[in-house]
Amino acid sequence: MSFAKGLETSSSPMLTEEGKEELYLYSLKKMAEQNATTSRYNLTGLYGNNAFFYKGNECLRVHKEKKYALIRMDLYRFKTVNEFCGRSQGDALLKHIADCFRVYEAEDTVVGHLRADIFALCTPYQETDDLIHIVSSLAEKITSFPISCKLLPAFGICISEYGMDISLLSDYTNLALQTIKGKVFSFYSFYDKDLRTSLLLEKKIENEITTALTERQLEVHIQPKVNMKTGDIIGGEALLRWKHPLEGYLYPNLFIPVLEKSGYIVDVDIYVWTEVFQFLRKLIDQGVTPLPISLNVSRLHEYQKDFVEVLCRLSREYKIPPSLITLEITESALAENSSYLFYCMRMLQEKGFSFSMDDFGSGYSSMNMLKDEPIDEVKIDRLFLSNLESSKGRTVIRHIISMLAELGMDMIAEGVETKEQEQFLIECGCYKAQGYLYYKPMALTELEKLLL
Ligand code: C2E
Ligand code: CA
Ligand code: CA
Repeated sequence: MSFAKGLETSSSPMLTEEGKEELYLYSLKKMAEQNATTSRYNLTGLYGNNAFFYKGNECLRVHKEKKYALIRMDLYRFKTVNEFCGRSQGDALLKHIADCFRVYEAEDTVVGHLRADIFALCTPYQETDDLIHIVSSLAEKITSFPISCKLLPAFGICISEYGMDISLLSDYTNLALQTIKGKVFSFYSFYDKDLRTSLLLEKKIENEITTALTERQLEVHIQPKVNMKTGDIIGGEALLRWKHPLEGYLYPNLFIPVLEKSGYIVDVDIYVWTEVFQFLRKLIDQGVTPLPISLNVSRLHEYQKDFVEVLCRLSREYKIPPSLITLEITESALAENSSYLFYCMRMLQEKGFSFSMDDFGSGYSSMNMLKDEPIDEVKIDRLFLSNLESSKGRTVIRHIISMLAELGMDMIAEGVETKEQEQFLIECGCYKAQGYLYYKPMALTELEKLLL
């Protein structure tokens, strides 16, 4: 029964149960509509949050034949605009943004000012390029506003698929926005299948990691390090693998960033360290000369009060001299210059552990750190080796190696894959390497066999 029919029957004193229900729904709809149309954002006169959602859903329903998308705009650091330029300038900016959006208002297009610096547009489109055109034009107009702060509008875009309502679309545009917030060079992002897949994967990893730990799905592999001149194995680096019961082997680049976000990496690292201490004890008990092993240390350990204690305890418990353990901390973690981290590193160094700066040259290394901070070894990032074809690339690496040598630092090159790379490194004075040219990371049992 249609709403119109419900209305017809409303004048009749003999209203059926069904009719009453329809009448009730109709009046609810009318009330909501009234509420929606009146609830506008005071400052800009655009629809507020609820009104926008209501009007947007109406629009999708009425124009079923059209393709729709939701665009959500957030101004990066709007707060600082208010702080630096004053509230009245902030308000003037919001009004200007509202005017830029208002241009799109039409019978089949809804514009909203959801809150503070968040604006939205529910619009039909033909090609995705049309949407890019809209956000580009909005960004250009918004940033032309005369104000002494840098304006960084960011747009999340989600294409409406069958059955999605505005609030879901709005959530998705928000997720798309999170991926670009604060990035100067990308100002829009689409919510798409890839983003959806990566978000689902993140959730899955977070949900399954505890089981992985308890059911021993996490495996430690070790990649041997060699002396390039003799070919001898001089140590190894512990690298994590997740033997997932359904997905097979998962590699750390996939799941470590997720574990770092959620903080689980701390427990996972300690699990890896424990496995390594246990392995070294086993080797010693079998009469095999143990290999010095490098452990990766996530930057999150600097927030753990017991960081130093955990490593000392493991060394005591498994009776492994700390001189067999090198702790790898990435250059970018060290570049944060945390005095507590440096304090922990000095304490551990006093106990006999050594420290390696991982991924050297991949980020913003401060050369000063090399002379002042407790670092024993530098791991030259794989990226350098990819630049060896150019003479400038070779000059950079040659000078880095001679600088490290002059500073008296130990060094090792990562990711050596070819004989040419090996030859060049030896000529420059770097003799240690880790790379597929020699060994790939291998399971502990495999390494044990190799050493035996
Ligand atoms: P990383 O510490 O820089 O480790 C070296 C990575 O380079 C390893 O990747 C290794 O397999 C790879 N590799 C070694 N030789 C070559 C080569 O010749 N060519 C190429 N293309 N790659 C080579 P993997 O095992 O996938 O680990 C990736 C990253 O994940 C590691 O980079 C490290 O940052 C992190 N990671 C691994 N295990 C752990 C862990 O237990 N704890 C923490 N916090 N991070 C870990
Ligand atoms: Ca490493
Ligand atoms: Ca590295």
